Amino acid sequence: MEKYRWPPYIPEMGDLVKDYIDQGKPLSIPDESGIIHELECDFAKLHHRKYALAVSSGTMALYSAYFALGLSEEDEVICTAFSYHATAAPLLHFGVKIVFCDVEPDTGNIDTAQIEQLITPKTRAIVTNDQWGHPCDKERVLELCRRHGLRYVEDCSHAHFAQYGGRYVGTFGDVACWSLQGRKLLSGGEGGILLTDDQDLYERAVLLGHNLKRPAQSVKNEIYRPLDRTGYGLKLRMHPLAALMIDHELKNYCFSWIESRARTLEYFQSQLQGTFLRPMARRDYVTSMGAWYGFMPRLDPAYKVDREHFIRWMNDQQLQISIPKSRPIPDYALFAPDRFPIGHFTKHPVGTYLNAQSYYAQIVNIPTFTFEEYDQIDRYIERIHEYERLFL
Ligand SMILES: *Cc1c(COP(=O)(O)O)cnc(C)c1O
Repeated sequence: MEKYRWPPYIPEMGDLVKDYIDQGKPLSIPDESGIIHELECDFAKLHHRKYALAVSSGTMALYSAYFALGLSEEDEVICTAFSYHATAAPLLHFGVKIVFCDVEPDTGNIDTAQIEQLITPKTRAIVTNDQWGHPCDKERVLELCRRHGLRYVEDCSHAHFAQYGGRYVGTFGDVACWSLQGRKLLSGGEGGILLTDDQDLYERAVLLGHNLKRPAQSVKNEIYRPLDRTGYGLKLRMHPLAALMIDHELKNYCFSWIESRARTLEYFQSQLQGTFLRPMARRDYVTSMGAWYGFMPRLDPAYKVDREHFIRWMNDQQLQISIPKSRPIPDYALFAPDRFPIGHFTKHPVGTYLNAQSYYAQIVNIPTFTFEEYDQIDRYIERIHEYERLFL
């Protein structure tokens, strides 16, 4: 069984990288210039946002965002209970109390109906994920933030150019972060980026992970002048070759991949209709699934399918399908109080998040087919019907 490959082979990518090196273009960019600045401008412009900062990973984009917000041990941040662990993990490094919020049972996104009861006088921010490309309820999160004076951090790492009511994700929050790592829609192998319209958030994010000439150029606030050369002491710059690859994909492939993936997976969705494997849930406000980072339909609990048996049987039919690796975030030992301490910080107890657990127990991971692989999809559908005949 040949594994589905992402990113796809891009024939000219090797020459592009070679030309960049042969022309003696910089392999380290200590200021606001060159290919890194070009990527930042392109990404910001597409989202109509003022400031962009490229960094070494999505995790570091989130870390920079949390630093920019000035979060500390006194603070609480409400975080979705189901996402990749890096949505929450950087918060541990500021000693923040992470208050997990359970998810909607069908989309796996933060359940906005449960947020308000978690807000306390110490709550400073809400962080969400757009699970597998499906935007969370942005307007509802924003309304809660406005009402309670909270900041909104969007982790858009699953959902490049997904749309909520015709508007791109990453244009709602005070700050929005994307991973540009190897498995994401856009990738430089490793990389991340953040966007904001808030000059102070941008300047603090720059200062955290950028030294030498970048602060002197990007940071306007005079109170930070003495930090010009050192920043706050970390170095989280993106590699220029990563920026080159990402910007090339953004300009030449990103939107055709998104269209083609939507066509292909909508076909898959339609064929799953009426089977024990439910198509992925979709809210009316979603106007595009964008990157559509994962294809994760859910087993209908009414059929009581044994997920492991089903997956093994499908694998025996040479079809790629698996149990997703990302678990509900609070399940990881990293978040357990009194285990694996970070600095002198206290870790706070985490609860049990029933919807996150049941959502995780029901989904199956199928390759995110992108290039109209209809024959392969039909084979999945045939086998799913056969499984139903044989076992249900
Ligand atoms: C991939 C991902 C990250 C982390 O990105 P890296 O670039 O691997 O650090 C963060 N959040 C979500 C939701 C992700 O999917």
